[in-house]
Amino acid sequence: MVGAIDFSNDINALNQRLRLANERLTALYESTQTITSTLELNQVLERLAQSTAHVMNVEACSIRMLDETGTRLKLVASHGLSENYLQQGLVLESEDLLRRVLAEETINIGDATQDARWAYPSQAETEGLHSILIAPLIGKKDALGLVLAVSHQPYHFVDDDAKFLVAIGRQGGIAIENALAFEALAKNEESKSKFVRTVTHELRSPVSTIRSLLRTFAEGYLGELTDTQRDTIERILRRADFLQMLIDDLLDLAAGKSDSLMHEANTHVQLDAIIERVIKRLQIDAREKKIELTCLSVRHDQDAIVLAAEEGMERVLGNLVSNAIKYTPRGGRVFVSLSSGEGVARIDVSDSGIGIPEESFPYLFDEFYRAPNARALVKQGTGLGLAITKDIVTRYGGQMSVRSQLNAGTTFTVTFPIVSQ
Ligand code: ATP
Ligand code: MG
Repeated sequence: MVGAIDFSNDINALNQRLRLANERLTALYESTQTITSTLELNQVLERLAQSTAHVMNVEACSIRMLDETGTRLKLVASHGLSENYLQQGLVLESEDLLRRVLAEETINIGDATQDARWAYPSQAETEGLHSILIAPLIGKKDALGLVLAVSHQPYHFVDDDAKFLVAIGRQGGIAIENALAFEALAKNEESKSKFVRTVTHELRSPVSTIRSLLRTFAEGYLGELTDTQRDTIERILRRADFLQMLIDDLLDLAAGKSDSLMHEANTHVQLDAIIERVIKRLQIDAREKKIELTCLSVRHDQDAIVLAAEEGMERVLGNLVSNAIKYTPRGGRVFVSLSSGEGVARIDVSDSGIGIPEESFPYLFDEFYRAPNARALVKQGTGLGLAITKDIVTRYGGQMSVRSQLNAGTTFTVTFPIVSQ
C-alpha cells in the first residue's frame, strides 16, 4: 500500500490533551466559584489554599502575602502542611528570585531537598516535600504575594501545571482584592457612625443646658422681660429644640447603623398597647390642627405580640403618626389600624393629607430627604424620621411599605413576624 499515513497515535494524544484541558478548565471554574462565594478575607484565603491543592492534584499548598512594607512575605493560609514547617520565613534563597516571581514569573523546583534555590532543604526533607511550584498572586496593579503548590513526588510539575497555577493566582488575586475592598468598606462605615455618635453625643449636653437656661430666662426667673425680649428668647428656644431633636435623631441613626452597638433587649411587645399610648400622646397635636385621630384595633391580644423593644416600637409608631398629622391639612383625618394573620402583625397608618409625589418615592427612606410638597407645607423637618423608622423596623425583622396619592392621602404599612407562643 502506498500513501496511507496512520494518524491514529496523534489523534489519541490530541484527544487526551483535550480531555485534560477540559478537566482543568472545569476544576478552575469550580475553584473560582468556591473562592469568590465569600467576601470574608480569611475564608477566601483558606478556600484558595484548599482548592489549589485539590485542582492541582497535590498534597499541599500555601499562600504567602506581602506585608504592609511590601518587602516581606507573611504566611496567610495553608493546606496539608505541618505547623512546624510553616514557621519558615522567606521561602526562596535569594531575594532576586523572589522579586522575579513577584514580577509574574513562575518557579518550578523539581526537588526542594536538593535545590539550592529553596531556603529550607532539610525541613523539606523532614516534611517529605519534593516538587514545589510557585506562582504570583496577581492583583489589579501588582503582585500581592505567592501561591505555592507542593507535591510529595519529585519532578511532579510540567509546563502546563505552571500555566495553570498562574491562572489560579490571577483568580485568587482578584478574590483577595475584593475581600480587602469589602473589609475597608465595612471599617469605613463603622468609623463613620462612630464619628456621628461621638460628635452628637458631645453636642447633646451643651444644647440641653442652653435650652434649660433659655427656659429660665423666658419664664422671667432672671428678671422681668419686655415683650420683644421674650419673643426673641422664645424664637431662640424653638431653634434650640429643633437642634436637640436633630441630635437625638442622629444619635439614633448612628446607633441603628452599627449592629455591634445596638444591644437593647428585645421582649414580647404588645402592639395594641403601644398604639394606644402613641395615639394618646399625639392627640394634642391632632386636636390643635382639628384633625380627627382614631384607631381601630382588631383585638387579638395573643396574636399581636412581636419580638422588639418597646422604646423602638414606640418610635416607629410615633414617627409614622406624627408624619401623618404633620402632612395633613387642618380638618383632615388620620387613622391607625392593627390586624394580624398568616404569622404577621400589620399596622396601617393612613391619612387624608397632601400625599407623596411619584418622583419622590425612590428617596423617601433616604436620610435627609424631604419631598418638595412637604417642604412647602412645613418648614421644619430633618428628613431623618423615615430613615430611622425603616432601620428600626428592619432590626425587628419587619417590613415597611407605602401607598399614596397626591393631594388625597397616604398609607404607611409596617408588618412584623408574630412571636409563636
Ligand atoms: P423629620 O425628620 O422631622 O421627621 P420629615 O417628617 O420631613 O422630618 P421623614 O419623617 O423622614 O422627614 O419623612 C420624609 C419625607 O417623606 C417627608 O419630608 C415627606 O416628604 C414624606 N412623608 C412622610 N410621611 C408622609 C405623609 N404621611 N404624607 C405625605 N408625605 C409624607
Ligand atoms: Mg417625620
